[in-house]
Amino acid sequence: MRHYCGLFGVFGHPESAVLTSLGLYAQQHRGQESAGICTSDGRRIHRFADMGLVNDVFNPDRLRTLPGSAAIGHVRYSTTGSSCATNAQPLLFEFAGGQTCVGHNGTLTNAAELREEFEARGHIFQTSSDTEVIIHLLAAPEHQANPRPLASVLERVEGAFSLVFLFRDRVVAARDPHGFRPLCLGRMPDGAYVVASETCALDIIDAEYVRDVAPGEILTIDAGGLTSEHFGPEGLQRGGACIFEHVYFADPASDIFGDNVHMVRRRLGEALAREAPVDADLVIPIPNCARCAALGYSGASGLPLGRGFTTSHYIGRSFILPDQASRDLAVKMKLNVIKEAVRGKRLIVVEDSVVRGTTTRGKISALRRAGAAEIHLRVASPPLRHPCYYGIDFPDPQKLVARNRSVEEIRDFLGVDSLHYLSVEGMLGCVKHPQTDYCSACFTGDYPTQIQRPVEKLALERNGKR
Ligand code: SF4
Repeated sequence: MRHYCGLFGVFGHPESAVLTSLGLYAQQHRGQESAGICTSDGRRIHRFADMGLVNDVFNPDRLRTLPGSAAIGHVRYSTTGSSCATNAQPLLFEFAGGQTCVGHNGTLTNAAELREEFEARGHIFQTSSDTEVIIHLLAAPEHQANPRPLASVLERVEGAFSLVFLFRDRVVAARDPHGFRPLCLGRMPDGAYVVASETCALDIIDAEYVRDVAPGEILTIDAGGLTSEHFGPEGLQRGGACIFEHVYFADPASDIFGDNVHMVRRRLGEALAREAPVDADLVIPIPNCARCAALGYSGASGLPLGRGFTTSHYIGRSFILPDQASRDLAVKMKLNVIKEAVRGKRLIVVEDSVVRGTTTRGKISALRRAGAAEIHLRVASPPLRHPCYYGIDFPDPQKLVARNRSVEEIRDFLGVDSLHYLSVEGMLGCVKHPQTDYCSACFTGDYPTQIQRPVEKLALERNGKR
């Protein structure tokens, strides 16, 4: 399972490209495939985007080629469209309405239908990303003639979208009516406004958090200040704030959907300890994401928190390796068991989530070989059984370890003495808002929106197709 995208935007700052690179750097955990920045100097828009990490793509010389006091930026992991420089965002287009750039976090669930509609009318698409349909809609005469062109466009698209746009004279941020992905507004000490997927991007540039961009809001930042308008249906009964942002994706330092991520993860661990206590010697997280939950489990159970693994920071990303054997080796190189710490001990191992189960099984077997006396696995989220259509790249559902297995069968597969997954109620009891404000469909199968035709990751590719 992979991270997806991070967004940043700033208006009214002379160092807009530098600030954007810092905002993207703080959100590198949201996407490591490509990075891009567009700036406006008031007359024209400048763009650079390429494959790689923010630090590799943007050095000081490169940033100097991006002048202007308004900018947007994007880090990407592809959830639709292949991983290539053509699909790197922000995307820049020119049409009768002028130059427009867009960066997107999420997945448009009706992108395939919209694209077919446009292609039947002779439109030529430059990328295989779902995001491009937004630009084709925006350029369409019926939307250009609308007094609220962007609102009318966003009412045509479905699914999950947090968006940042850069026009010659403004930055615009928008969030889908269910609010699947986070997006917040901040302000610099000199008064410049910034927007970002996560508040950790505000911290790095000393911006103050102002508020979240609301679900169904279009927020325009220009020389006149802020303007807000609403689009989409009023009074939706269901929200869609992705609970997985709290479980796994977001940075622990960030505040999203009204809660601090670290504190939510601690509460998940505490709830887990209450639901499934067990007598043991030591609580250890399977690094790194489960640290906050393990801290919560340890605090609530009164059992000491320990360290069972060392982590190497010098191994590249294991998921890009071509086969399972190489990935297994990379995991071994990345995590090494501290034998003295676990030998003869009854361990409670805390994981944030279990996806395919193969990596967890490898770590459990390493603990066994190191002489652990008992291993009790506690997972700080419910079993993952369903695909995500809203911007998270889950493996094929058939490969999810919990898809067609009971908890007892998973326990047997993972080779642990006992296994407990946090209940759905336990998980949703750890966040601030009512359960109906959140999406937890990958655990429950209850999707907040109708999915007519799921968008497969490469569904919009044209390579080799007639
Ligand atoms: S299906 Fe899961 S990962 Fe996708 S938006 Fe809903 S909670 Fe998040």
